Amino acid sequence: CGIVGFTGKEQAAPILLDGLSKLEYRGYDSAGIAVRDGDRDVDIIKAKGRLKILAEKTNDGKAVIGSCGIGHTRWATHGEPSENNAHPHRSDDGNVVAVHNGIIENYQELKEKLVRKGYAFYSDTDTEVAVKLVDYYYKKYEGTPVDAINHAMVRIRGSYALAVMFNEYPEEIYVARKDSPMILGIEDGESYIASDVPAILKYTRNVYYIGNMEMARVRKGEITFYNLDGDEIEKELKTIDWNA
Ligand code: GLU
Repeated sequence: CGIVGFTGKEQAAPILLDGLSKLEYRGYDSAGIAVRDGDRDVDIIKAKGRLKILAEKTNDGKAVIGSCGIGHTRWATHGEPSENNAHPHRSDDGNVVAVHNGIIENYQELKEKLVRKGYAFYSDTDTEVAVKLVDYYYKKYEGTPVDAINHAMVRIRGSYALAVMFNEYPEEIYVARKDSPMILGIEDGESYIASDVPAILKYTRNVYYIGNMEMARVRKGEITFYNLDGDEIEKELKTIDWNA
């Protein structure tokens, strides 16, 4: 339902929690964040219910160290509202961690394919299927994260805004979208991701609008866009001149 992401100089968790609180008006049943500190393992903290519970669990984010992360408020479509089904979701080895808005319509078919390939599933969500499909293509083709997401996008039917972290790219976040909103913000060495403007308006007014069926690689203060062919595309930086 709500997505935020941050990679920059500051600590990520407080910014993620603050951003998620600006998206609360959309409604949600659970929330979670994933944060990485350099190339250390990713920390994933989730809670069913109010964002306040997640904030308490993490001491308003201060207990979670790291300057790259993603966050999510979930409005369950596949799988009951629970901590286990809350996002972020991860591949078994933690290679891929992601949050997702939308619905993967062919998740059942993709899940069966992945089970045949040896994948196990811990949640009832369509999102976990998308995460593991990206992991599958990442390993199969040994390409870049953009290649892996691209392969998954070609196979997935439905709608999605995805923010994905890869273990081998500790300070980066990858984004893809189809029929689900997503914007990217940039300011002085820091990069922001959000499903809606209010989440990041406090931090920046410089935004890129990622188009349908496009991907982005988000580094600290640097964002690159790609089309479905994996080619780099140019985007104009826009300025938001209204107040939330
Ligand atoms: N379909 C996903 C789920 O049920 C994402 C729902 C959402 O957009 O919050 O977990």
